[in-house]
Parts: sequence; structure tokens; C-alpha cells
Amino acid sequence: MLIKNALTVDVEDYFQVSAFADSVGTHEWDSQPLRVEQNTHKLLDLFDEHQVKATFFTLGWVADRAGGLIMEIAQRGHEVACHGYSHQLVYNQTIDVFREETIRAKNILEDIIQQPVRGYRAASYSITSRSLWALDILAEVGFDYDSSIFPVRHDRYGIPDTPEHPYRLMTPAGRSIIEFPLSTARVFNYRLPIAGGGYFRLYPYWLSKAGLTQVNRRQNPFIFYLHPWEVDPQQPRIAASWFSRFRHYNNLDKCEPRLRKLMTDFRFGTTWDILKTLDLTGTEFSIQSPSK
Ligand SMILES: [Zn+2]
Repeated sequence: MLIKNALTVDVEDYFQVSAFADSVGTHEWDSQPLRVEQNTHKLLDLFDEHQVKATFFTLGWVADRAGGLIMEIAQRGHEVACHGYSHQLVYNQTIDVFREETIRAKNILEDIIQQPVRGYRAASYSITSRSLWALDILAEVGFDYDSSIFPVRHDRYGIPDTPEHPYRLMTPAGRSIIEFPLSTARVFNYRLPIAGGGYFRLYPYWLSKAGLTQVNRRQNPFIFYLHPWEVDPQQPRIAASWFSRFRHYNNLDKCEPRLRKLMTDFRFGTTWDILKTLDLTGTEFSIQSPSK
């Protein structure tokens, strides 16, 4: 029996990504043409076609403007989870602002779907050693799991040397929350990020498939992510640095055909469906000592 993996979508629009934060300010968001609804519908139809259920980590900002879409995601049998409110990097926020925005986003989503929202994912995986306090707040406000930790080194995110599989995380203040870290494959001693998004567009499909297969061979589920704008090659182009444009626009036309292949090559479900069946006894990891 093939292992079931988590398929996740970070529901935000093309102008809200961290790579464009210097080009399109938060105050300009409302004047941008919104494409997140049509693109999320495209994903919902693709998932139906492949009989796959997924988790949609949704921005409160989007839910405020597209409540019908959030309702539809839930009604079509998918999991609605939380991607914060304003897509600011957690380590750039104060503890109080983070707490206020997180509660606000969770409440907006729960009011729409009338069900508990169990999962959280930070903007650009920005829970790092500089913002571990965020994990305490997530546990405190009632999330069952987090999926924000990339166990790699990167310029914007990552806590190297943390576990590469789902585990029970003990927060700095001694609370407990399940962590489903973004997936990595081993290439010699190097951890290769293999979880989706820009990596999925950058690598040839065979490399993504080989890396994800390796995770399943270790008897672990992987977690895969993408964004609605990644299946929208026609989106408006934003003036930004060469590197930001490369990260955002590289191989946009290849994402959808590759996603179709991925859904035939692997089994998928929602994050919570997978986590609730896992026995996490013995996986406890104290986040104060990530390198021990
Ligand atoms: Zn995001």
C-alpha cells in the first residue's frame, strides 16, 4: 500500500509573496487585480479530476475578500487551515502583532466554515530560531499542528538539524504542538528541499519524483505545497529584482502538467487526515536545542 502524503496549497495572490514585498506594499494590495479565486478554482477542479483532497492554508486577507471561495473549499471536502492574516514574515513582527493577527485569521476562517481550523503555516516558513516564540502562541491559541519549519539552511527561512518527519514539538515555554516540517531528501549529507513551490518548478520532474519517493521509502509521508498563482502563467508581471523575478516566474507553464503527473505517481490527502493517523510517541523534540 502506497503511503499517503499531504497536498497543501498556500492561498495567497501573486502580488503578496515575500519576493515582491519591496515592489508591492500591503497598502497597494487592494488596487491589484485579484486572481486568487480563479486560480484556486483551477486547483479545486484539478484535485476533483484526480480525486484528491488537500489542505488550503489560507490568508485571512483573502478570506475577508473571498469568503465564498473558502466555504467552497470546505464544501468540496478539503481542509481549510490558516496562513496568517497579512503575509508578513513572523520574525519581522512583534509577539503582540503576531498573536493578534493569528487569532484574527483563525476566527475569520472558522466563522466562514463553522469548523475548527487545526493547522497553521507561516508566511514564507518564517518560523526560525529568531521567532520560536510563535510556536508557543500557536499552541496557546489552539492549533493542533504547525507546518512552517523548513529543516534546511536558506536566506529567508529554515531551522537546520530539526527532524525531517512529522513529530511532536515541545515549544520553548513547554507547550506541545505537532510539527509537519517541509519535506527534504538526502543527497549525500545535504538536505535537498523537495517540498514543492519554486523547487518543483526549478527541478526537472524526475528529480522531484526521486526525492519524494526517497521520503516514502523511509516510511514517512511527505508534504507538498504550491500556490494558486503557480498555475497561472498569464498573471500580470511585477517589476522587481532579477532574482525575485526568477524565483517567481521560472517555469510557471510547467507547474500544472507536472502537478498532474505528481497526482498520478503518489497518493495524497489532507494534512490533518495524515497526522491524525500517525503514532507520534517517541518523536518528541525540544525546539530549544535544534542543533543537538
Ligand atoms: Zn505564503
